[in-house]
Amino acid sequence: MHLKNLYGIAIITLLSFICGCSSQIPLLPCNSEPSISRTLLGLWALDVNPNSMSARIEPMREAFAHFKVTSYLPTPSIKVNSWDSSTETLDVDVTIVNENYLHVYGYDVRLIIYSDNIGHKLINADDYTGLFDIAGGAEINPFKAYAKGVANRKLAWKASQTENLQIKCPGANFQVKFAIDASYPSNCAEPYMIDGFNQGSELYDVEGATSELSVKVLDWQNDVDTVKLLCPQITGESETPFIFDSGTFWKLNIVNNSAAPVGLYDAIIKATSSGSGTTALFDVVTIVVSEKPLRGFGFPVAYPTASGYSLTEYDGRKWMDYLNPYGYHLGDDWTKIGGGDNDCGDPVYAVGDGVVTYAQDYLGVWGNIVMIKHDNIDNTGTMTSYYAHLTEMYVQVGDPITAGQVIGTIGDNHGHYYCHLHFEIRNGNSTQVGVAFTPTIVTEGPYGQIDPSKFINDHYNP
Ligand SMILES: [Zn+2]
Repeated sequence: MHLKNLYGIAIITLLSFICGCSSQIPLLPCNSEPSISRTLLGLWALDVNPNSMSARIEPMREAFAHFKVTSYLPTPSIKVNSWDSSTETLDVDVTIVNENYLHVYGYDVRLIIYSDNIGHKLINADDYTGLFDIAGGAEINPFKAYAKGVANRKLAWKASQTENLQIKCPGANFQVKFAIDASYPSNCAEPYMIDGFNQGSELYDVEGATSELSVKVLDWQNDVDTVKLLCPQITGESETPFIFDSGTFWKLNIVNNSAAPVGLYDAIIKATSSGSGTTALFDVVTIVVSEKPLRGFGFPVAYPTASGYSLTEYDGRKWMDYLNPYGYHLGDDWTKIGGGDNDCGDPVYAVGDGVVTYAQDYLGVWGNIVMIKHDNIDNTGTMTSYYAHLTEMYVQVGDPITAGQVIGTIGDNHGHYYCHLHFEIRNGNSTQVGVAFTPTIVTEGPYGQIDPSKFINDHYNP
């Protein structure tokens, strides 16, 4: 894109020839010099009868002499859809058919409604066309691009294209003057468009939440090399770069660094072209931040159901109901149905979202232990889950953990037991290892231990 060049282009007073409205200079966004050859061009005056919803369209032949034109476009057809007198908006479909007698084709097809002293204006212009409107510079006419789905917006011979136009007609003045220009790519360094913005997944209202964004950058001059997102309210960064993916797609994994709350956020996507650094394309998109859903707990084996595992097979020890030489057991001993060592190396899963607060070999009767702190998941307050006798530990203190994440494997504590998982749930955030038995039946152990299976069943929402 070479928009800088546009700034210096002498913009012509085209319609001063025609309508005498020299106070409002009608401007073309590029290739405005009559001396530059155009491939296909047409200039028309439209007049609509709102009572019959019919339109008359007349070529403005007297203007043609001022342009170098290879061929002229045939007069387009107009379908009048509606006239809204309260908003003074005329809604029409304009269909162009390239049946010029020389059989030439053009690119970069644009319909331009000229500004005049009536105040006619194209309301639904393509948004990027505003890029030509330079602050403090001469006013230009935003335009409607045709053939957007065609490479280089080529208007082939015999091709037909239709666009919907919403035109402001102050005072119900329907005499609208417009041009359609289809020329060679080289005559108009025009940006194309950013389109197809997509937010791949929900972006939650918590710090560090992520979602993948993608966008299509349709750049028929193929010189866009940088695409950036401007959404500091969420990212905490002034600009965040997209990464080129493939074809016309660019991607960005947005991070909610600002813990932005639930809401709709306006963001700008801008593309710049090689070398110039000038903004070539931009688009305003909406990014949705949504509430992180409450998620509860699941079981630490065969997450979330514990299907195929037993709480009774390993030595028959159960929470508070089995007297053994050490007293009442304060955890769950999970083993695969069938017993013995048939579960050695089976995955152990985090029962809920959280962060690792302990992960090391305590030796003795404990072996490798992982503890995960869960902050108010499913409105539970802070809880700590506790996984012992592991063979492998896949996590470290400080790691954020997602419910159902594999954190290690079932083990035998250096050969001390048949393989099983000793599992506890504790109120609070203790990282004391402590005892796993009490001499008498209790509802809460000395380190805040509560009945693990009852807790998970009460908060089961994996
Ligand atoms: Zn145990």
